[in-house]
Amino acid sequence: MQCVNGIVQVRPELAHVEDYVPGESLAAFSARTGVPVDRLIKLNSNESPYLPSPRVSRALGEHVQYNLYPDPGGGALIAELAAYTGIAPEHIVLSSGSNELITKLWSAFLSPGDSVLTASPTFSLYTTATTLAGGETIAVLRRDDYELDVPAMLAALRDDTKLIVLCSPNNPTGNLVARADMEALLATGRIVVVDEAYIEFAGEDGLAASPISLVATYPNLVVLRTFSKWAGLAGLRLGYGAFPTWIVPHVRKLQLPFEVNLAAHVAAHETLRDLPLMRSRIAEVIAERENLFTMLAGQPYLRVFPSRGNFLLAEISAPRLSVAEFRSQMEAHGILLRYFRTPDLARHVRITVGTAEHTAALGRVLAEIGARLGSAVAATTSA
Ligand code: PMP
Repeated sequence: MQCVNGIVQVRPELAHVEDYVPGESLAAFSARTGVPVDRLIKLNSNESPYLPSPRVSRALGEHVQYNLYPDPGGGALIAELAAYTGIAPEHIVLSSGSNELITKLWSAFLSPGDSVLTASPTFSLYTTATTLAGGETIAVLRRDDYELDVPAMLAALRDDTKLIVLCSPNNPTGNLVARADMEALLATGRIVVVDEAYIEFAGEDGLAASPISLVATYPNLVVLRTFSKWAGLAGLRLGYGAFPTWIVPHVRKLQLPFEVNLAAHVAAHETLRDLPLMRSRIAEVIAERENLFTMLAGQPYLRVFPSRGNFLLAEISAPRLSVAEFRSQMEAHGILLRYFRTPDLARHVRITVGTAEHTAALGRVLAEIGARLGSAVAATTSA
């Protein structure tokens, strides 16, 4: 037994867990930079720029019986989600955000020493969850166009690989997983987890091509979704997963009773009754994504990648502009973006799609950075 000063220590794996670093909150950013909260533009966590459906706050205010536990099975909401997704209710599990299902699935399938295959760059929580479960991440690099490198993934599989996780649209690269690639990975017999946190922003064709209905056909396919992004409910924490029925009881066993709180139940119910409004907001985000893309593509020192999510990935391609300088300019103007610690994304920045005003404000700061770079170059050339 490992003791320090006679005291038992935490599991050794915990010492190696690289913390998942969420996007900084408004309050924390304001405290660090001194820019007042009401002047900030938060484009660092892929949240919706819109408030939830007005039905949500009304229903939350009118609901009285918060003294009672929520429905533990979530049957009513599951039935509504079955109608929304087109899959049968027995495949659906609710969760407190889809993050929760990631950790539960990982503990359902990983014994210490097992491995998880990921396609990097991707959402870093998969690695955190793997390390927490005492497992090892096998990260296979995507191709230059960020598509999956399926032959390399198949070659990297080990006997102890239990899970293959695919994010679609992928955070942060924005592309969807090709159906043939997913099928090639399903043929390995490993559990293939398709994280569709952003699928509502993939357009009608993207949503229609979602593999979610295939959970009834493939015994090893899991699809995860969330209300955090498209429904503007990140603060209320509601996710769900579509599982083959044999996996459902195992995941539920790992959940605590009443894992999903009553406010999240009410909010999701009201959101699903206000789908026309929600769909018009999704359409606005998609349209604004295209405006933001054009604006970013017009900056000579950035290279921007097309995206099917509510975010865009851009590379700071001019070597004379450091990420630190770019970031400090953004932060001085109160603009929060997502930066990365991993070497493959060291010069990249992820920008959440906001409103047209957000795009315009960002555009002004980018133009200033461009002008400063231009005059620095002119000064060097004339010197
Ligand atoms: N999956 C991906 C790919 C994400 O980017 C996020 C949010 N950052 C989540 C899952 C988690 O979403 P939530 O827990 O809010 O449902």
